[in-house]
Amino acid sequence: MDRTMKTLKRFVLVGAPASGKGTQSSFLSEKYDLKPLSTGALLRAEVAAQSPLGLEAKKYMDAAQFVPDEVVNGIVAQWLGNNKDCGCLLDGYPRTVAQAKTLDANLEKMGLGVDIVVYLNVSPELIEARMLKRKACPKCGETTRNGEELCPKCGTPMIVRTDDNPEAFAKRRKDYETLTLPVVEHYRAQGKVVQIDVTEEGEPEVVSARIASAVAAYCQA
Ligand code: AMP
Repeated sequence: MDRTMKTLKRFVLVGAPASGKGTQSSFLSEKYDLKPLSTGALLRAEVAAQSPLGLEAKKYMDAAQFVPDEVVNGIVAQWLGNNKDCGCLLDGYPRTVAQAKTLDANLEKMGLGVDIVVYLNVSPELIEARMLKRKACPKCGETTRNGEELCPKCGTPMIVRTDDNPEAFAKRRKDYETLTLPVVEHYRAQGKVVQIDVTEEGEPEVVSARIASAVAAYCQA
């Protein structure tokens, strides 16, 4: 397969809630010059702005449920159409095999496809330990793990996500395992998955470096 850093343009990042996906999304976007789309951050911004989309999405998000496919697929298709020519990184989408198939079909219509899926496989014990310390910025979507009061990127007061209580978290974890992990297998069958196993807490930079080597190896494969 003809893969070079130049032909890698459409990245998908998959990881459980609190796997460090937000941090690694920032790393990947900077390193490979990708425009990121986090569907979760976009939906939270719509909720904060109390837009019609936000008011609709809030019902599902507060209940730790997935926002309906037609809503999310529509947002992403429009965004991809506006960003055909740049490298991009999808974070939090596709979240189900149905969404993955829609994404593949939408990209195919544009003569494009998913080029690489970075799968952050973080152990459940680590995820649980991190979850309670997590905060999110309602304005720019930045997430932090150390209880920061203000967003390190834009200075907005950080919030604890309404879907980060233990019950909601357990539900999101289960949905991730039953509905989102099959997305990894969908793309593994296409030979597009780079898997990073994380079993011990460490600096995010260490995980970033491992991702960079795995992406480089994927290009040489
Ligand atoms: P996240 O920040 O990715 O954990 O997303 C937060 C919440 O936004 C999720 O629990 C869902 O309610 C909603 N959401 C984000 N992305 C999607 C998606 N691809 N499909 C359905 N719901 C989504």
